[in-house]
Amino acid sequence: MTKKKKPMSRSENMSRVKSKNTKPEVYLRKLLWHEGFRYRINYKDLPGSPDIYIPKYKTAIFVNGCFWHMHEGCNLSTIPKTNYDFWKEKLERNVVRDKNNYRELEYMGIKVIVVWGCEIKDMEKNETTKKRILSKLTDSIMEISNTYK
Ligand SMILES: [Zn+2]
Repeated sequence: MTKKKKPMSRSENMSRVKSKNTKPEVYLRKLLWHEGFRYRINYKDLPGSPDIYIPKYKTAIFVNGCFWHMHEGCNLSTIPKTNYDFWKEKLERNVVRDKNNYRELEYMGIKVIVVWGCEIKDMEKNETTKKRILSKLTDSIMEISNTYK
């Protein structure tokens, strides 16, 4: 596939829901690797191309930006006042797409875990928080049950 290389315009850049190798993703990957988990990244064979997929535990992990994926009740998730209707529709479409992907994965017997951008931020800021969230995440990965809530 050939694609003309040109710098992305700001709006194109803004329109990318999921960029590859974003910092929060890389941060979490390193931690999981350190915990001994082995995974595939941006696994395109699965619905939604999970950011991290751990074959051993059939677990897909999505590192979701709070804005783009409308993290419920999070103050980083707001609909811009300018072009409100446009943004509302766009962001809500993302959420519907996310839910469909999660459902498909679960049909396939794959566990889905969502880690939010704000959680990663908190982990980076505070060692205690980091340990708490990481151990919760580790438990969820190794748990048998099939839920992403
Ligand atoms: Zn959030």
